[in-house]
Amino acid sequence: MKLLEYEAKQLFAQEGIRVPKGILIEKCEEIPPRRNEISGKVVIKAQVDVGGRGKAGGVLMADQDTVIETTRQLFNTRIKDIAVQRILIEERLDIQHEYFVSITIDRTKKQPVILFAETGGVDIEETAQKKKDAIRSVSFSPLLSDVPPFLLRELCGDAPADILKTVNKLYHVFCHKDALLAEINPLVTTPNGVYAADAKLIVDDNSLARQGIAINLDLTEREREAEKHGFSFVELDGTIGVIGNGAGLTMSTLDLIEYYGGKASDFLDVGGGADSERVMHAVRLVSGVPSVRVIVVNLLGGITRCDEVAKGIIASGVSVPVIVRIAGTNAEEGQRLLAEKGYEMLDTMDHVVKKAVEVAG
Ligand code: GDP
Ligand code: MN
Repeated sequence: MKLLEYEAKQLFAQEGIRVPKGILIEKCEEIPPRRNEISGKVVIKAQVDVGGRGKAGGVLMADQDTVIETTRQLFNTRIKDIAVQRILIEERLDIQHEYFVSITIDRTKKQPVILFAETGGVDIEETAQKKKDAIRSVSFSPLLSDVPPFLLRELCGDAPADILKTVNKLYHVFCHKDALLAEINPLVTTPNGVYAADAKLIVDDNSLARQGIAINLDLTEREREAEKHGFSFVELDGTIGVIGNGAGLTMSTLDLIEYYGGKASDFLDVGGGADSERVMHAVRLVSGVPSVRVIVVNLLGGITRCDEVAKGIIASGVSVPVIVRIAGTNAEEGQRLLAEKGYEMLDTMDHVVKKAVEVAG
C-alpha cells in the first residue's frame, strides 16, 4: 500500500530523518488556531496519491498573509481529477541543492537496490532519460542491516556526509517497514542541514497486519461492495466491463481489449468456484460503473460450472449488453440457457473482445 506523504514522513522521522515542521489539516478553519506551529514562508501540499503532483498543481507556495487563501484554493482544485481532502502545510525549506534517492527491490538479483541522482526534483524522469549516467545505483545483500560505507560513497559521489547518512537511514525505513519502495525526491541540503522535502513509501500488502497499518484506500462505493463479495475489483474509466475468473485470464482480457483499441471500465475477478449468485452480483456491480457500455464475461469452467454462470448472468437482469465466452465444465448447458434468453455468445476470447470493442464504439 502506498502511504501519503505525511504518513511516510512520520515514519521517516521515527528513523531520524529530518522532515520540515508542518501541520496536517482537513479544513481551512483549522489553520488560525495552529498558526504558531508554522512560521515564515510555507509550502502547501495536497495529500493525494498522484505522481507528478507538483507539476499538476498540487504543491503551492505561500506566506503567512496568503496561507489561508492559498490553502482554500488548493482544497477547491482537483489534482489529476482527485479531490483534495487533506493538506499538509509545511515551513518552507531554504533549498540549496536537490538530490534524488530511491530504494526498491531488484527482483532479478533478489537484493535491495538504491538509486541516487545528484539532480533530484520534479524533472527526475526527464533527467534520467536525457542523461544515461544521471542515476547511479548499487545493490547489496539483504542480510546487511546497513548500506556498506564504500557503496554509499560510490553511490553518492561527493555529496555531503549527511546525505550519505540519510540514505542509510532511509534504508533502515525500507527494512523496518517491509517496504517495496522508499523514496525521497527531493532530498535537500539547506543552511540548517539535510531534509526530506518529500516522502514516498509503499509497504508490502502482505505485511500490513504486522506493520499495524490500517487500509485507508479511497475506495469507490462499488469497490467497497466488491470487497464484501470477495471479488478482486478495480474500477477504471473505459467503456468495456470485464468479468473473468482468475487474475491471469482477467488480466489478459484487459490486455486484449487494449490491443483491439478499447478501454476497460474495470477489472473483476470472481474467483474460483463462483455460483450463480456470485456471478449475478458481479454483473450487477460492473453494470453500475458509470462509463460502462458493454460487459464482457470471460469465464473458464473448472470448479466453476458454466450453467451456474449462465443462470447468474440471466438473474442479474441488467440493461447493459453482456457478451459471453464460457468454456469448460457444463459449457453446453450454460450456452443453451443463455441462447434461450438471446444473449450473444462467442467461442473464443479473441472474438468476444473484438465484438465488445465494436459494440462499445
Ligand atoms: P511532487 O511533485 O509530488 O514530487 O512534490 P514535492 O514535494 O517533491 O514538491 C515539488 C517541488 O516543490 C520540489 O521538487 C521542490 O522543488 C519544491 N518544494 C517542495 N518543498 C519545498 C520547500 O520546502 N522549499 C522550496 N524552496 N521548494 C520546495
Ligand atoms: Mn517529489
